Amino acid sequence: MKRVFNFCAGPAALPVEVLEKAQSELLDYQGLGMSVMEMSHRSKEIVDMADRAVAGLRELLAVPDNYEILYLQGGATGQFSAIPMNLLGSNNKVDFIDTGDWSKKAIKEAQKYGDVHIAASTAEGNYTSVPTQADLNLRPDAAYVHYTPNETIRGVEFDYVPDTGDVPLVADMSSTILSRPIDVSKYGLIYAGAQKNIGPSGLCWVIIRKDLMDQAMDVCPSVLNYAEMAKAGSMLNTPPTLSLYLCGLVFDWLKEQGGVEGIGAVNGKKAETLYHYVDQSDFYQNPVAVNARSWMNIPFTLANADLDKQFLSESEAAGLTNLAGHRSVGGMRASIYNAVGQDAVDALIAFMQDFAERNQ
Ligand SMILES: *Cc1c(COP(=O)(O)O)cnc(C)c1O
Repeated sequence: MKRVFNFCAGPAALPVEVLEKAQSELLDYQGLGMSVMEMSHRSKEIVDMADRAVAGLRELLAVPDNYEILYLQGGATGQFSAIPMNLLGSNNKVDFIDTGDWSKKAIKEAQKYGDVHIAASTAEGNYTSVPTQADLNLRPDAAYVHYTPNETIRGVEFDYVPDTGDVPLVADMSSTILSRPIDVSKYGLIYAGAQKNIGPSGLCWVIIRKDLMDQAMDVCPSVLNYAEMAKAGSMLNTPPTLSLYLCGLVFDWLKEQGGVEGIGAVNGKKAETLYHYVDQSDFYQNPVAVNARSWMNIPFTLANADLDKQFLSESEAAGLTNLAGHRSVGGMRASIYNAVGQDAVDALIAFMQDFAERNQ
């Protein structure tokens, strides 16, 4: 069997130990003679498994008691609609910080429900930086402020948490959650599609301050209604049980890596090695402002774009896969989430070095 170094932006690499554990339990989960996929989601075993997964995330991020943790369907994209439908009401003002492609998609959905104001945008600089706190033109009477701490496509990450005063801060952490410690109490709501840095696709995790939970619009579908889903333990309908099970295994694995502190140290080092190599090279380039560089998604271009195809086919042949940049920006992108180790980054750099020498 051969495992490649997988730099996919999502669905992304999973820890091999997690896949092995799932494989060992696939036919016979806990002596029940069937797989987790074949059991009622109302069974004690599945409910316990779900509770353990939720507790795992709560422990890893030290989520305070006044926050609810939900797992919902419809992806992070579903939350682009669910959040305005749950948080906007008689006050329908929402402020957005626009730092790229995912911000724009969230803005487009919110415009269907509320009065959207762009508090800052880095569009003019082609989304290669983050606005400073002083750049934020926030409305003190907004219902919430939305931002995207890590823009997955262009590899732009905030190096601070915006201060929004008493206005709740909402964060799309799809591609940065669990990459390092965070202070959950600074946020009103955190959400993250699972398939980047948690588990397989199928779930979006939502961490919400309980006092924000009970004000959904009447038209909000029950499966997207935070209060209703909380009351039903996120099982108002059938959840993707296999995805949930794998998320739980990833949380266990992360605890074995020393939690978010442990993995954060590894992630910081991985990103530093790759940026350092790119910066000292005259063959590769990264356009993002140094303070706004993502730890998880690292785009780079070649000095000569005519070599892109050759770079991709040769890297693929060398066991380094999914390095093409997003179709909207081109170039290359290495996504180095938690399950992609320093060994993968070192192998990538060795390949890049060799490729540059041969094509200089
Ligand atoms: C991938 C991604 C999304 C979309 O996630 P889906 O689960 O496919 O809806 C949203 N926001 C960010 C930052 C992402 O990286």
